Amino acid sequence: MEVQTLDREELEKVALMAVCACNYYDLADNIDITTDEELWQIIDNRDAECENCKEQ
Ligand SMILES: [Zn+2]
Repeated sequence: MEVQTLDREELEKVALMAVCACNYYDLADNIDITTDEELWQIIDNRDAECENCKEQ
């Protein structure tokens, strides 16, 4: 899959799959105001340890 060619709808879908469960509803609620750049950051960091979960 060539991720750089994702359209906005697909980008949102992939970001929602990539985001940590603890941030899922937050992102889903705010997806319309989340920039493409922020969605890409979420996707790029999907394998990193979640900051929220790490603190618990
Ligand atoms: Zn988390």
